[in-house]
Order: sequence, then structure tokens, then C-alpha cells
Amino acid sequence: MEMNSFFPLFGGVRHYAWGETASADAVPYIAKLLGVDAGAEPWAELWLGAHPSLPSEVIVDGVRQPLGAAISAQPAEWLGAAAMAALTPPQLSFLFKVLACSHPLSIQSHPDAASAKVLHATKPQLYPDANDKTEVMIALEPFEALAGFRNLQMIRRDLAAVTAFGSLTEAWRTGTDAAGLKGLCAALFAMEDAPRQTMLSAALAEVSAPGRKRNPAEELFVRLGEEYPGDRGTFFAFLLNQITLQPGQALFLAPNTPHAYQRGAGIECMTNSDNVIRAGLTPKAVDVETLMDTLNFRDVGATLVEPVREKRGAGTVERYVLPTPKFQLAFYRDAPCAVEELGEAIGVFLVVSGRVALAVDGRPQAEAGMGTAWVRPAALRNATVTPLEPGTLVAWAMPNF
Ligand SMILES: [Zn+2]
Repeated sequence: MEMNSFFPLFGGVRHYAWGETASADAVPYIAKLLGVDAGAEPWAELWLGAHPSLPSEVIVDGVRQPLGAAISAQPAEWLGAAAMAALTPPQLSFLFKVLACSHPLSIQSHPDAASAKVLHATKPQLYPDANDKTEVMIALEPFEALAGFRNLQMIRRDLAAVTAFGSLTEAWRTGTDAAGLKGLCAALFAMEDAPRQTMLSAALAEVSAPGRKRNPAEELFVRLGEEYPGDRGTFFAFLLNQITLQPGQALFLAPNTPHAYQRGAGIECMTNSDNVIRAGLTPKAVDVETLMDTLNFRDVGATLVEPVREKRGAGTVERYVLPTPKFQLAFYRDAPCAVEELGEAIGVFLVVSGRVALAVDGRPQAEAGMGTAWVRPAALRNATVTPLEPGTLVAWAMPNF
């Protein structure tokens, strides 16, 4: 099969309830990106990758097929030598998504490599694959998220201001740093449903009282409490950092870091995994035992990443080099790209806005409009992606082996 070309890639859409729904004055980000009618469904995620839960499709020799199947047939030509050496069996090492939410996602973390293997073997109904999950979120518009534990002293100060939390066991008031945080979470998860809901309802009534001067954690607690009354995830309003990413800013989430996206649209990239350990704000199963075993209670704070920016012509190239070999990203804003600068590796790109011309060996292959995604196989060496109009943004994901 001739590999000297770009291949159009067709992603799948997830319509999770927390996604964006069309309203009189707003079209969901993903429906607008794809240029399709939004209907009444919520639009949550567009998946571009080879994960078996929702594989994207590629057209090879006129045959539409799952990307993973095409890669398996000719792994060296698609993936390149470095990925072939790094991964057994050879496979796409990342999953690229567009994510848009107007409601909070569940409070969650993702397993590291060692626990993913054990979890997939022992609880396959909760953990669909044996891969670790590391992820990054790059904002396309202001994006609100909760990520990483707050400083324990600040958490204690805010909890102490709410009388209703006095019914939580005293255990969490002792212990420093990691032990203190772990003790606090253990005390919350150890409570029976009825007393926990009573405590959370009383706290919500107390904090929402008219005239109370609420701190940011209390504001969030009220917002989450209105949407998920009695859910233990609402308590995490006091535990996690509140972050607003500006467009182009990235939040890197190592495995075992607690987080919850709140509102906005962004590009997400992750290792090829759908393993989610849930802690609350969800009707799905909350796996308390696994959470307590795996959550990182040591490192507080969230890891924000600024790209390395390089001016090119009228535009810029922004590279997100991350502490994982399995993926990195590059945003080309009004800037041309020659694929050899990305190394001899597979790349997936999405035209986020505007329009580009694709050329191979100096000859035009296609024009690609907003919302289209493409794969560059490693075997494609002499090819370019050139913006055709101002405001063009092309987002690339590729491995970094
Ligand atoms: Zn996540």
C-alpha cells in the first residue's frame, strides 16, 4: 500500500450528559467545529485515535477501516522506528480529543502503569484497558477545572469555617501534609450514606445562607451542591485547586492526580486509555478502595504548562513538550508546517479553525477545512500543511519517543 500521502481521519463523538447542548444563543463547540446540526443531544467529546471503545476510521486504498487495523497491517510505515522499538505490540501511543463541557465532569483520577495492569485484570468492567493514563488539557477558550490537592492548612481553615463539618470525624484535624490529606479523604469516604448526606445538606444550607460572605471554595460548593445535592464529590470543592486556563494554556495531569473539568472547550491528549477512577459527582460507580490506594496525596498543586513559542512568518508555532514519551502537541497558528520537522513519527492533526492546503513532494494533495482531521504516517517525509486564510489553527499530536 502506498504510504506517501496524508490520510483523512474520521473521529467518533461522545454525547455524555455533561457536554454542551444547543441553545438559542449558542451552538455546541464540537457540532460547530464539525459543521453539523447539533440536534438536542449534548456534545461532549470528539475522539481521534485507535482506542477500541471508539476507534476512528481511516480510508486506505479506498477502504474505510479502523485506524488500529490499518496500523496493525503496516506498523513500521505508520508509526516509525522509534515507536516500533518502544511499544510491544506496536500501536498508536496516544488518544487525541476535543472536549467541551457545560457541566462538571466527575471528580476523578487515572491509574499509573502498575495499577492499570492490576485494575484491568481484577475489575475489567470498571477499567477497560491495561494502560496507564496521563493527560493534558489545552484550552481553546477560557477553561475552568479543578486539579490537584490544595495546601492542607488552607483546606483546614476553610472547613473550620463551616459548623456542619464538625460532624466529620476529628481524625482529619491531625496529621500533616500527605497523611493529613489522606486521613481527611478516608474520613469522608468512611461515612455512611445517611450521615454524610445530612452533613452535606446542613453545610450547603449554612454556606448558602443569605448575607454570608463566601470564599471561592464555598462558592464552588454551592454551585456543585445545587447540581449534585448530597454527592460526596461536592466536598472536593474544599480539597482541590480551582484553575481557569486561558486559551493556549495547558494543564498536565500525571496519573493519580485528582481533577474535574468544569466548563469550556479544549484539546485533550492522553495515553491510549479510558481508565477512570471516580470519586464523585457522577451516577457511575465510585471506587473508593482504589482511590485510597492510588491517589497522590503528596504533591499538592496543579501543573500548568506554557508552550515553547517560535515565530514563523506571520504566525507562531507553539510546542507542548510534556513529561511523557507517549505524546506531545504542537499548535500551528497561521504558520506553515513541513512534516520532516516533526520527526519520523506518526502524527494526527485537526484543523481547529480556518483552512489549509496539503501537499506531498511539492504537489497538491487536498484542501482541508475546519473540523477535518488527518493522519501523517511516519513514512510520509516530504509534505507540507500550509494555511490558506488568516485565523487558521492546526493542532498536532505525535509521540515523543
Ligand atoms: Zn481525566
